[in-house]
Amino acid sequence: MKQVLQDLSLPQIAALMEELGEPKYRAEQIYRGMMRAKRIGALNVPAALREKLLARFEDEPVKVREVFTSADGTEKYLFELADGNLIEGVLMTYKYGRTQCVSTQVGCRMNCAFCASGLNGLVRSLTAGEILAQVLCVNARAGGTPEKRAVTNVVLMGSGEPFDNYENVVRFLRNVSAAGGIGISPRNISLSTCGLVPQMYAFAEEGLPVNLTVSLHASSDEERARIMPVARAYKIADILAACDHYFRKTGRRYIFEYSLIAGENDGRAHAERLAALLRGRPCHVNLIRLNEVKEKGLQGVSEKDAYRFLGVLERAGLSATLRRQIGADIGGACGQLRASRLAEGVPAENAGAPAQDRAEP
Ligand code: SAH
Repeated sequence: MKQVLQDLSLPQIAALMEELGEPKYRAEQIYRGMMRAKRIGALNVPAALREKLLARFEDEPVKVREVFTSADGTEKYLFELADGNLIEGVLMTYKYGRTQCVSTQVGCRMNCAFCASGLNGLVRSLTAGEILAQVLCVNARAGGTPEKRAVTNVVLMGSGEPFDNYENVVRFLRNVSAAGGIGISPRNISLSTCGLVPQMYAFAEEGLPVNLTVSLHASSDEERARIMPVARAYKIADILAACDHYFRKTGRRYIFEYSLIAGENDGRAHAERLAALLRGRPCHVNLIRLNEVKEKGLQGVSEKDAYRFLGVLERAGLSATLRRQIGADIGGACGQLRASRLAEGVPAENAGAPAQDRAEP
């Protein structure tokens, strides 16, 4: 695979122009085109420069292969990477704007019991530019520009564990929020982690005040370990301490995700124990009704039961909401679309074989 131009910041593109003996203003032109999701081949620069760039960089590192639109307006994207790997993303429309969910890895190695992303393990991490290109491309398709964005919010809640791809994710966050670019503020970005404690501490030092979201899904280590293998490495108490550290450092309240799974974590006793665990903390709880993944065999809960669970948390004084289920008719949950394409026998070069197996283009 060639390099990804979207990995570069404006100063880095400027340095590249100097190296190539090009005038400085070309960097601005390239960057502006890139922020509008232009292919290198379509950049408004001299043909000779386009050729030089194409010799080094992928023309279009993230291509839209399929788009599904849900009855509620949610759009689900299937993207193809330059090495043929598939990733997916979602664009959700709310009253206040549009939120795009991006993937940070092809597959995932966390292997949570309910999640489709880990079905085939981790194939590879995405580069910062491959994450950014998802946003640029969807923003442009939705009629946005860097000046007037169609995508207003970003959540790192697609396939992959962002903190298992720490350097690239931090680089993406800096590039997506850079002034003069698409400029999405860290405050409008949420990063969801399964709770990799050392990276949570490191992230608090990055000066990126994003909304930190932690997938909790249980209120005891034993129950958490049954559905999230990562719980064997990091205890809930250590995750809570890391969250408090993040709050002290950034002043940002943190969020817990709790996907309700029938018979697993959805009882009254679970709700009471969760409330006791989180009471008094500067946090919010997002309840999610499990999106059933057929390969996983776990069941979701009724809306009524989800509200009952929510009621227990609210009466205990917690800030909590039940996430509206959107896009369920188009396989909205992480990794479902890619997994279904793999199951349908998409040609091997598109089915997520390890990148290192591929010949250089
Ligand atoms: N690796 C990150 C991002 C995962 S996706 C993390 O673990 O947080 C965002 C959220 O969706 C996580 O809370 C994840 O646990 C949850 N999730 C994944 N599959 C789900 C499903 N089928 N139903 C409900 N929630 C799911």
